[in-house]
Amino acid sequence: MPVRRRQLRAASFLFPPMKKVFIQTYGCQMNLADSEEMFSHLAARGYQRTDELEQADAVLINTCTVRDHAEHKAVSFLGRLAAWKRERPSRRIIFAGCAAERLGSALQKKYPFLDILSGAKSIDHFADTLDESGLFGPQADSGEVLPAGLTGYVTIMRGCNFACTYCIVPRVRGPVVCLPQAGILEEVKRKVTAGAKEIMLLGQTVNAYQDGAVSFAQLLNEVSAIPGVERVGFTSPHPIYFTSDFLAAIAPNPKIARHIHLPVQSGSTRVLQEMKRGYTRELLVEKLKALQAAGFVISTDLIVGFPTETEEDFQQTLSLVDEVGFSTAYCYKYSPRQGTPAAQMPQLAQNVLEQRLDILLNRVKRLAEVAYQAQVGTVQTVLFETPDKGRSSQGFWVRAARPYPVGSVVNLPIEKAAGTLLIARE
Ligand code: SF4
Repeated sequence: MPVRRRQLRAASFLFPPMKKVFIQTYGCQMNLADSEEMFSHLAARGYQRTDELEQADAVLINTCTVRDHAEHKAVSFLGRLAAWKRERPSRRIIFAGCAAERLGSALQKKYPFLDILSGAKSIDHFADTLDESGLFGPQADSGEVLPAGLTGYVTIMRGCNFACTYCIVPRVRGPVVCLPQAGILEEVKRKVTAGAKEIMLLGQTVNAYQDGAVSFAQLLNEVSAIPGVERVGFTSPHPIYFTSDFLAAIAPNPKIARHIHLPVQSGSTRVLQEMKRGYTRELLVEKLKALQAAGFVISTDLIVGFPTETEEDFQQTLSLVDEVGFSTAYCYKYSPRQGTPAAQMPQLAQNVLEQRLDILLNRVKRLAEVAYQAQVGTVQTVLFETPDKGRSSQGFWVRAARPYPVGSVVNLPIEKAAGTLLIARE
């Protein structure tokens, strides 16, 4: 017995109890990927994840500032952590991402219990930030591969070179920096080793990717050729980079997902110009039709109530919805962001924004159902996420008639559609 106790003491000295981190992420898929990256640095310092705030020794809040509402939610969550920290002052709080970049040190003055403020431009240096703070212990290189879900998110570029007049992103994320292709391919291999079957490449204007002579199309094809990768998707693209050369380069590759989420924002050329989106309605429709002709299903984001949007402009957005046939559309009221040109323009009344949003939501509400119905009689390539359900390459949920191994990819004939679910015959 005495020997066993000594062994136990030695073991607990070698492996101190793991600390726990609670992660709250707001915003887009890029933020989810950034949270994973930040977590990997915390994991290397002995932290494991918990979904129980009360159990946590640290909280990481990764924030979004695209809309006022998202930023407000993150800051209120931070405010509520004051009591959590008072309970145990050794607990740590990290506030990271886009809102951290925009609000800066003013936030630390207002919330002095905040331990680390790490803006969106500093994510690549997050490990240094942890080490410089001296609050998270040294890095232990365990060589452990963190388990991943079926989808592995890989950031391939940061920042944006556009200057859309409503958008705060270029200010908080800076200009485009494309990550080297070699590092991206290594990261994809790590995700596959950890269990990923689908790779989602991320960037603010992801299809603008260029690393020397390596184009975005080449990168997609190389990622898809890595053993174990069954499907490759990407988000968020910008319409102007969908050229005929790009389509010709990826069209023969069945591993490239046939669903693209492509934010178009408005159907009015005048508003698009005021937004500085870089395309007209005519050019947009031409590109969307070319993508659809190549078998891609398109979903989108639309904004109503941009300053100066007239009733005629709004009607143009409604008619774009009818003309294109998106598989779904996420609709937003314009939200002024301090420091952007659009926030200085004369604003429309809130009731106009609300009315237009209602009308647009009504117009788009059956898009998904119609898109699902249109797949009856087709064959869908399904990646199984549970034994009886998976997502098709075109982004549709499919239920199989019998179980398949999770992670397998199967071509299934579609017998019928039930709302937003396709029912396969096999
Ligand atoms: S393309 Fe426009 S909307 Fe998208 S991140 Fe860049 S500035 Fe913002």
